[in-house]
Amino acid sequence: MGGTFDPIHHGHLVAASEVSDRFGLDEVIFVPTGQPWQKAGKEVSPAEDRYLMTVIATASNPGFSVSRVDVDREKATYTVDTLRDLRAQNPDADLYFITGADALETILSWQDWEELFRLAKFVGVSRPGFELGIEHLAEHLTGQPKDALTLVEIPALAISSTECRRRASENRPVWYLVPDGVVQYISKRNLYRPLDAERLDGA
Ligand code: ATP
Ligand code: MG
Repeated sequence: MGGTFDPIHHGHLVAASEVSDRFGLDEVIFVPTGQPWQKAGKEVSPAEDRYLMTVIATASNPGFSVSRVDVDREKATYTVDTLRDLRAQNPDADLYFITGADALETILSWQDWEELFRLAKFVGVSRPGFELGIEHLAEHLTGQPKDALTLVEIPALAISSTECRRRASENRPVWYLVPDGVVQYISKRNLYRPLDAERLDGA
């Protein structure tokens, strides 16, 4: 599951847990982005902070892990690079890429999306405020195996990192939206302070 994770929140964790259960996955690997090109121009917290928050949030679950492939990459991150690296590290694994309904809407703007389907099966999860559909992808899915893309309804959590950043910047609580350790990490590292206004409008 790729993401900016700025910060990671319970919407991400529930999505991962639900898909893991539904597909009987051995492991869910969270992959924080390095420099997210689709958010270029927008201020994003340092990759190391986002990586550490993701580690803190997932540490207690033996079925969750975090990969540094994108954080350590020199150039901008594309999902296809992530999947190539994960494929190289796990040559025998069946890979699934978990993505929320909003990210699925933009799949056609992803680089090398045809190769994406060869590298992994895709799982689109529901997200409040976004339509979970494949109509816009139908012509590209023709000829793909039936399980190339599966849509999964998950418990609706109307949480976004953007809203968490906004709350933190206004000294409003993010308790229960993100794991406790992440609340404490945000405060310890002074992330999302009011002056960082440009960080508030994520996409
Ligand atoms: P931002 O507001 O900064 O864009 P975000 O909450 O959308 O943050 P991302 O890191 O951009 O989080 O998302 C990573 C992945 O998790 C994406 O595929 C996104 O669609 C999915 N996702 C994020 N929040 C939810 C949620 N509440 N329910 C389901 N999927 C989600
Ligand atoms: Mg997002």
